[in-house]
Formats: sequence, C-alpha cells, structure tokens
Amino acid sequence: MTTHPPAPTPTGTAIDARAGALGGASGVRLPSPWIARFDGEAGFAAAMTAAQGLLATVGGIDDQIVACRHPRDYTAYCQSCATFTTMRIDWRHAGTTPDGSVHPAWTETSVCTACGLNSRMRALLGFVLAHGDYRRDARCYLAERVTPSYPAFGRHFEHLTGSEYLGRDRRPGERVHLPAFDAEVRHEDLTGLSFADASFEWVVTQDVFEHVPDYPAAFAECARVLVAGGHLVFTVPFNSGLSRTQVRALVHPDGRIEHRLPPEVHGNPVEGGGALCFQNFGWDLVDTLRGVGFTDVAAHAYWGPWLGHVGFGGLVFSARKAPPGRAVG
Ligand SMILES: [Zn+2]
Repeated sequence: MTTHPPAPTPTGTAIDARAGALGGASGVRLPSPWIARFDGEAGFAAAMTAAQGLLATVGGIDDQIVACRHPRDYTAYCQSCATFTTMRIDWRHAGTTPDGSVHPAWTETSVCTACGLNSRMRALLGFVLAHGDYRRDARCYLAERVTPSYPAFGRHFEHLTGSEYLGRDRRPGERVHLPAFDAEVRHEDLTGLSFADASFEWVVTQDVFEHVPDYPAAFAECARVLVAGGHLVFTVPFNSGLSRTQVRALVHPDGRIEHRLPPEVHGNPVEGGGALCFQNFGWDLVDTLRGVGFTDVAAHAYWGPWLGHVGFGGLVFSARKAPPGRAVG
C-alpha cells in the first residue's frame, strides 16, 4: 500500500509527482532523460549505430552549453532538491576524446549548487525515483554516509541506511565516530555486509565497485541482502569500448597489492589519500551480475539539460534480484 501518487516508470519523469513546484493538476511534465537502455555489448553497438542522428543533436546542444572554457551556471530542475536550482559546469577533470574535442568530465560536473550532487549522482537518484517500484517507505541501503548523497537519498527514503568503508581492521556494522564529519558512521565492507538476508528493497552504490578487488563477491552480497525482486542500482567508471573488464591491480592473500597497470587513484571522501581503482569495467560486468543471481541487468543512458544532465556518455546500471523459481537471464 503506497501513500503517494503512482510512481512513473523511467520513461517519464512526472514533475508533479514529487516536486510541488509546478505540481498538482498543472499537467506540466519534464521529458524523460532516459534515452537508451542496453542489456549488453551487442545491444549497445546496434543502438549507437541507430542513434547517430540523436547523438549529433545532443552533441550540438552540448557544444553550445560549453561554448566557453570558464565555469558557467544555468538553471535546471534538481530531482534531489525537487525544485529548479542553479547548476554549475566547471572544467575540473576535463578530457579529450579520440577525435580531439575537449570537454568537461560530464558525469562529474553540472553540480547542483543547492545540494552538491553532480550529474551522475542526480541521475542515479533520479533513476530510482522514476522507477515504477519506488516507494518512499521502502528500505534502501546506500553505500555512502558522509557525502551529499546521503541527505539527498534521506529526503526520498524514510528507511535509509548509509555506510562507509573505514578500513580492513574494522568490523562490519561497527559504528565509528569521525570527528572530521562530526558523525557516527557505520563501517561496512561490500564483500561481507553485516545485514541479514533480504533486508532491503534497494541497494545503491556510487562509483564504489571499481575500488573492490573481489567485486563479484560484492555483487553476491548485494544480492543476498536484497529481497527477491529488489533492485541494485549503481554507477561505476565504465569503458563501453571494452568487452572484458580490465584488471589494474590485484590483492594477494598476504595483502600485497600487485599493480598490472599504473596505479589510478580516485578521490575518497573519508581518506585524504584516495582510493585505488582495481579495475576498469567493460561489458562482462552484466554477465558477472547475472552470474550471482541478478536478472533484468541493464545500463541506462541519460541526457537532458532540463534536469542538469549535459554531455552524453554517463550510464546508470540496474539489476533486479531474481524472484525465487525464475530463471536467471
Ligand atoms: Zn539539488
């Protein structure tokens, strides 16, 4: 039994369902930003061929938005704040494509100046909110606690559990006071969660699995703590040109780290030293998820300046824990 308006499917974002800004019976709807769904490498290749015209349109609009190399602000609807806010594009982490064009790291920029969430984080939250199974009273585990995403998800889930990975010597479920954040923070290791089986309807992670050497074990743990039919939704740095995940570093049983490629270190909110990236994911990611009991595995592409998503290329991954008796596929 739900107490809110029926949730739209990811093909339509109803502004009046959660915003109130234009709400009620105004009939005003924002277009969906979910422009493509891929269930694997072959489907992605075919869709990219079919989408040439759309991508040219998207690229042309993006070029206009970033026609100067200075930071710039624009107005868009933030699904975290549930209102129109100011989004800021900056050029930190700018990159160059193989054809020589220079652009900001689209997933990391277009930050809402009110809630602090960047395009990728808002896309992840927006995917969950627009999903037909979203309910405000569902139980959600977010593998984040000290970042702006925790209060953002807290505005949309009544039962939210957050955590951070605080090091090898901590016990899963242990609460640790972090003076830097003035917060009691729960430690969890995604390869050995302290939660009982079937504890959550949603498990959400943001750019975490690339830092987990045994990521198949982490996927299996996510499946274990989900109810049948529950959803794992996440982002990871993803290379759509890779069929197979590229291992950058391995951990040996004695704890020694072997680097197969030059170390790549990403920002870590808890530890100033950053977090080592163990793998660059490719399309076999979807097979790994299916192998541990997930079904309906897909990557979803988004674009929509009206929601602060500029620059094509970001993907949100989703997978559903297979109901009992249903073939995994
Ligand atoms: Zn916001």
